[in-house]
Amino acid sequence: MRVAIAGAGLAGLSCAKYLTDAGHTPIVLERRDVLGGKVAAWKDSDGDWYETGLHIFFGAYPNMLQLFKELDIEDRLQWKEHTMIFNQPNAPGTYSRFDFPDLPAPLNGIVAILRNNDMLTWPEKIKFGLGLIPAMIQGQKYVEDMDKYSWTEWLRKQNIPERVNDEVFIAMCKSLNFIGPDEISATILLTALNRFLQEKNGSKMAFLDGSPTERLCQPLVDYITERGGEVRLNAPLKEILLNPDGTVKGFLLRGLNGAEDEVFTADLYVSAMPVDPLKVILPQPWQQMEFFQKLEGLEGVPVINLHLWFDRKLTEIDHLLFSRSPLLSVYADMSNTCREYANPDRSMLELVLAPAKDWIAKSDEEIVSATIAELEKLFPDHFGGENPAKLLKYHVVKTPRSVYKATPGRQEYRPSQVTPIANFYLTGDYTMQRYLASMEGAVLSGKLTAQAIAEANPVTNPSHLPTLTRPPATNAATV
Ligand SMILES: Cc1cc2nc3c(=O)[nH]c(=O)nc-3n(C[C@H](O)[C@H](O)[C@H](O)COP(=O)(O)OP(=O)(O)OC[C@H]3O[C@@H](n4cnc5c(N)ncnc54)[C@H](O)[C@@H]3O)c2cc1C
Repeated sequence: MRVAIAGAGLAGLSCAKYLTDAGHTPIVLERRDVLGGKVAAWKDSDGDWYETGLHIFFGAYPNMLQLFKELDIEDRLQWKEHTMIFNQPNAPGTYSRFDFPDLPAPLNGIVAILRNNDMLTWPEKIKFGLGLIPAMIQGQKYVEDMDKYSWTEWLRKQNIPERVNDEVFIAMCKSLNFIGPDEISATILLTALNRFLQEKNGSKMAFLDGSPTERLCQPLVDYITERGGEVRLNAPLKEILLNPDGTVKGFLLRGLNGAEDEVFTADLYVSAMPVDPLKVILPQPWQQMEFFQKLEGLEGVPVINLHLWFDRKLTEIDHLLFSRSPLLSVYADMSNTCREYANPDRSMLELVLAPAKDWIAKSDEEIVSATIAELEKLFPDHFGGENPAKLLKYHVVKTPRSVYKATPGRQEYRPSQVTPIANFYLTGDYTMQRYLASMEGAVLSGKLTAQAIAEANPVTNPSHLPTLTRPPATNAATV
């Protein structure tokens, strides 16, 4: 069957990949002139890459890792030491680490937490451990039920001192959803802790060895096109055209540069767009349906990604860093962490600015100068003295609506991949799947959509059907 997919982010491309495996013919229609959506990247006139976001791959991403394997590009993941490194605001320029020893889970995580004495006191560690007991006993159902609380409310409910937020969880919340602990749903943190503590390598991190567009999206496109599928850039979906019975008649594509609009028809249709543009484009009759009305409960959160090139090396650390700065979230010196961006003499810091709601409308110059002020605290040796590090150039990428904002109560608004419209499916990180709004969630959602289509429309002799890769089975104890 011909399946039209609007959106060439990871969800749309993963859906197309698994549809070709199932013997179908996907045609991916992407609005922009670049692949990847929220992992899109661009080369500047000097040949340097800059990206929509600093992206980390975790050991706890089974479907993503399986995809790398299936594309035969596993060597592109640059795995780092199993540790989490936090800046110490009270001692500028120093770091505190959670080192995971080579022990089975959850022992390695427990030892990592117990051995760190910079950030949490022993009473705080004990109270946090006790607070997690209901989650350990009741498992995933408990994690889902906690969606009614923010993380801070959950800490209070469990009698865990709120200082643990200041020390660890503000940084973790910002890295997971670009918002703080008072806003984020407890389910998000508990889900991440669950994976990190249950799987030996769950929190182990990898950087891609180059730009996601070239090093991950392009191999997906090659895979799809080699098997009869198609990926078209500059093909924005303008309108979903309906049959009298409310099913999809075609995708109306906006003609660019004076070209006429085009009606694109297929046997089945998939939206792989983010939830915000999908809401805008929903046909009027569908807007009355409860399934689609629920999308109103989801909205993308703003975030900003900065790239700063300096005249010298600021650090040799080859890892992700949690800044613990009020302005910034995580950052990395990509000249150390990423093979294609490597430079032995100069640093290129890639930094995520979050929460970004008060910054998204500001000029790039204002954003960069506020960031440099923060770097004076993160790298006092290089910015304080008489010969401060010189900024050679920068790129600022703003995403006013990125992943859906995971405030309490959002879980019930996340739609399934199968819709009430017989020939229309959804995919995307915001759709219901067991991972958060993440690359893993996007890839899994694409797989789930392809699987739903393949089950409803079996093809004789497909090359192989998508198989879901689940985390290792656990008992009730999930956190
Ligand atoms: C700053 C930042 C940092 C991040 N860090 C991480 C991280 O470290 N680890 C992690 O796992 N995840 C991270 N993420 C999240 C991750 O990038 C996303 O969850 C994932 O890429 C979303 O994929 P998607 O396919 O669901 O959506 P998208 O990537 O948004 O793809 C949707 C596609 O639809 C296209 N589209 C929109 N409208 C139309 C239209 N009308 N017609 C045709 N096409 C259209 C868009 O152009 C886009 O290409 C980060 C995100 C950001 C922004």
